[in-house]
Amino acid sequence: MADGALPGAEALAEVLADVRRYLGWHRDVAGEELQASSDGALEAIVAAMSVEVTVEGSSTPPLVVEYTEVSAAMTAETVRPVPAPTPPERVEADARPAVVTPPRTPHPSSLLTSPPVAARDPGEPPRLDEVRRALGDCKRCKLCSGRKNLVFGVGNPQARLVFVGEGPGAEEDNQGIPFVGAAGQLLTKMISAMGHTRDEVYICNVVKCRPPGNRNPEPDEIQACQPFLEAQLNAIRPSVIITLGKFAAQTLLRTDTPITRLRGQWREYVGVPLMPTFHPAYLLRNPAEKKAAWTDLQAVMARFPKPGP
Ligand code: URA
Repeated sequence: MADGALPGAEALAEVLADVRRYLGWHRDVAGEELQASSDGALEAIVAAMSVEVTVEGSSTPPLVVEYTEVSAAMTAETVRPVPAPTPPERVEADARPAVVTPPRTPHPSSLLTSPPVAARDPGEPPRLDEVRRALGDCKRCKLCSGRKNLVFGVGNPQARLVFVGEGPGAEEDNQGIPFVGAAGQLLTKMISAMGHTRDEVYICNVVKCRPPGNRNPEPDEIQACQPFLEAQLNAIRPSVIITLGKFAAQTLLRTDTPITRLRGQWREYVGVPLMPTFHPAYLLRNPAEKKAAWTDLQAVMARFPKPGP
């Protein structure tokens, strides 16, 4: 290690904690899948894994931490700087918008007339519970005929961080809660790797009813549900939105751009920073892409650090 090339012990400890969090969900899930087929293969993949880490406030270049080094770090913490000196990305302070401008589609406040909404300041968006009530026993599209439960959303109505997925699967349909199946378990690990709990964030989907056989939601179904998704976001007014997969990103950003091009790039949804990333179900099928997804989550963590106690 060159003198002066590394940040202080505290920053290093933070870097290692961050890397361990990532390896926690990456290795865990990849491990479960790979363990079944071959322990040797898992070792080979894990040994080859490395993570690039930027230290907030550090003037040193990003660091590459390899998994083997992290294992070794249990006894001796070893990290090496990336050879090419790239300045670390500037970390912005959390800029929670005081007011989020209304969604681009007409706001579904007209949907909230039955049952009646309590008197409020003009311009104040409907609350989450009001949006849910307005959705009611929804029959606005054909998905209603096959559903067991409508899956509205779960989590903190004042969340700073909102995850938007595609639509409920079988387990979500059974329980009426988003992301509780296999993909949901991975999402929960991703959330905790970011230092959050499911209770702190809010999780919802583009469509609220399960598409039969887990097929993709169709345009008319997305269109019927979109005002309610937008009303949910407008009620919560989060600091940042993470979209999971193609449908959430393309719906909120109104674009046909493929997710492979959208992911990892900061965008905005009515003034709220939005980070598109891969869907956890895709990550289960393509574990090699978890590294890219972790980069996306890290970008969110850097720009919107969890406030201290
Ligand atoms: N996939 C989604 O997009 N949403 C869920 O709630 C579950 C799986």
